[in-house]
Amino acid sequence: MDKTITNIIITALLALALGITGCTTQLASNISPTEQVVIVVTATSEPIIPISAAVEPTIEVILPAPEATAPASETTLENLAMGLNAEEAAALLFMIEEEKLARDVYNTLFATWNVQIFQNIAGSEQTHVDQIGLLISNYNLPNPTQAPGIFTDQNLQALYNTLITQGKQSLNDAIKVGGAVEEIDILDLQTRLSKTDNADIQLAYNNLLNGSYNHLKSFANTLSTQGGEIYSQQYLTAEQYQTILNSTQGNGTGQGKGKP
Ligand code: ZN
Ligand code: ZN
Repeated sequence: MDKTITNIIITALLALALGITGCTTQLASNISPTEQVVIVVTATSEPIIPISAAVEPTIEVILPAPEATAPASETTLENLAMGLNAEEAAALLFMIEEEKLARDVYNTLFATWNVQIFQNIAGSEQTHVDQIGLLISNYNLPNPTQAPGIFTDQNLQALYNTLITQGKQSLNDAIKVGGAVEEIDILDLQTRLSKTDNADIQLAYNNLLNGSYNHLKSFANTLSTQGGEIYSQQYLTAEQYQTILNSTQGNGTGQGKGKP
């Protein structure tokens, strides 16, 4: 009898050990109905409760996995909470590189032609880069600007390469390149200004637009006074260009106050 109980206990322990692999039913079927009752009593004396209970911890181990992805989505929510949508964020990243393109083009053309207007306006473009850079920093965005003449946005890289080639052909070509940069800048700023409702971004874009109006007028005046040519708009419509010419007093060296 003692031997039988020992066997039953051993069988029960085996059954518990193999329960997870699904062997318990087969082992139990080799034992008589009476002995199976004893197995149940022995089993309940152990801290483990039959097969179904043994499966549950496995499920609980899997459950924490979704929680691990939570921090990644918090970053996105944080940006949304700050009121900056994806389009506004992309616009800031593009505009800082476009302002840097203006600076880099003018610095290169100043080195080529040694004409003061390029150096003066390059200095103004640096303040434009800094203004957008401050917004990028405030919104915790990654600043995309690289070394002079190098651009993260490949369209701007191609534009830079083309403008430098054109600007090295003659001084008048260089001045027209300056006008082209300002016209492109004006159109890109106006488009993005119309797609943001953030007051800080609107303020910066309007500041940059006023700067561009003045720069465009300065290049047009320089082409006339130094190059003996009348500047013709390259990207703006004739009407848009005329509106800008009429929008501010003076020759473009003063503070711009015009708006489209
Ligand atoms: Zn600018
Ligand atoms: Zn400019």
